[in-house]
Amino acid sequence: MGKIIRASDRATKTQPNTTFTGTVYADEVVVGEAPSRMRATRVSFTPGARTFWHTHPVGQTLYCLHGIGRYQLEGSHVVELRPGDTVVIPPGAKHWHGSAPGHLFAHLAMSEVSDSGEGTKWLDAVSEADYGRKPA
Ligand code: MN
Repeated sequence: MGKIIRASDRATKTQPNTTFTGTVYADEVVVGEAPSRMRATRVSFTPGARTFWHTHPVGQTLYCLHGIGRYQLEGSHVVELRPGDTVVIPPGAKHWHGSAPGHLFAHLAMSEVSDSGEGTKWLDAVSEADYGRKPA
């Protein structure tokens, strides 16, 4: 039997400052029940806000919903994101994502836990210098 999870039953959560810089809101879309490993969250970044550097064991897909965003894979240029863009992040690749300076941004974040149930591995904060780089 399926189910409908009502928006009114789930409050928006504020993301912790140990893994995000600035004010970031998360609205859970779904956490799949076994055998599903699907996880989807709508993440809304206020201007200047972004994730810390991190990796995902099975990779991550971002679907950009509104505003202007930023994404960087370690060792690559910063990339600008616009609504309708899809970002496919490889397993274990160190990266960050967030708003563009001066802009709101929201994406749908989709990922799966690993065979062993391992999720996102959080690393260090994205420096102002890295965040402020011009997109390629
Ligand atoms: Mn990510």
